[in-house]
Amino acid sequence: MTEPALTPRGRPGTSADHRLTVALTFDFDAESPWLGPDGTASPSQMSRGAYGANEGVRRVLSLLRRYELPATFFVPGDTAERHPAETTAIVAAGHEIGHHGYRHEPPPGLTPDQEREMVQRGLEALDRVVGVRPRGYRSPAWELSEATFGLLGEYGFAYDASQLGADRPHWVQDRGRSTDLVEVPGAWELCDSALFLFSFDPYLRGLAAPSHAEEIWRGDFDGLWAEDSDACYVLTMHPQIIGRPHRMALLERLIVHMLATDRVWFAQTGQVADRFRATAGDAPAGQRTPG
Ligand code: ZN
Repeated sequence: MTEPALTPRGRPGTSADHRLTVALTFDFDAESPWLGPDGTASPSQMSRGAYGANEGVRRVLSLLRRYELPATFFVPGDTAERHPAETTAIVAAGHEIGHHGYRHEPPPGLTPDQEREMVQRGLEALDRVVGVRPRGYRSPAWELSEATFGLLGEYGFAYDASQLGADRPHWVQDRGRSTDLVEVPGAWELCDSALFLFSFDPYLRGLAAPSHAEEIWRGDFDGLWAEDSDACYVLTMHPQIIGRPHRMALLERLIVHMLATDRVWFAQTGQVADRFRATAGDAPAGQRTPG
């Protein structure tokens, strides 16, 4: 398969001059999604999660360094505590850290008090391990509760990245009320777990060929670029999933394609939210709708 040459590149985009924004995001879940409510799991499941720390993060950071690309890593507190060296390496490389729960607890299974504790413990762990106060939040499994956005506002988050309702940033609406939170939405179609994750229970077939994902990921990139709008192409990946060599090769091919495309602005999700906030105009928050 012939890939587009890196030179001549398209003209790189900037926040002020771009045709499409691309946000590369990685949820560094490690063992956390495999833990039960009591915080334990089988050694087999634990080892599966550890792959992200043992192999995936190193490969992802190497690829991002090679192409000098920014990214956002959403890191559960439990991951930061188990893998301080890898979490520190992510910060040292200049990437953004976002909140992703403490033990990857989907909020619908929590009481409001438990959800508050999850937010608090996640913040404390990231502060203790890497001295970072995240400005963004992505909920585990992209699940939300009725308490989530109120908590994010209370704790001073600038943006959320847990919703799936648009291809572009917008103000978060919380049960019909406007908020000061910016939403940077994702999509299951642009998530590696939906395509590649194999599991016996619940049974997930996963293990798609990279060419299968490549068609979807490249198709959405090309389609959004053609629209020339305020869309943001958010890829959501996991070091324990995308971090296998055959999938890293897919990601590299996609990156080369995007770099060869004119005026693509690679941004961290925090930068995407900041730009939206700066350019959204004077209308009251909440009066805007996606698109
Ligand atoms: Zn996750």
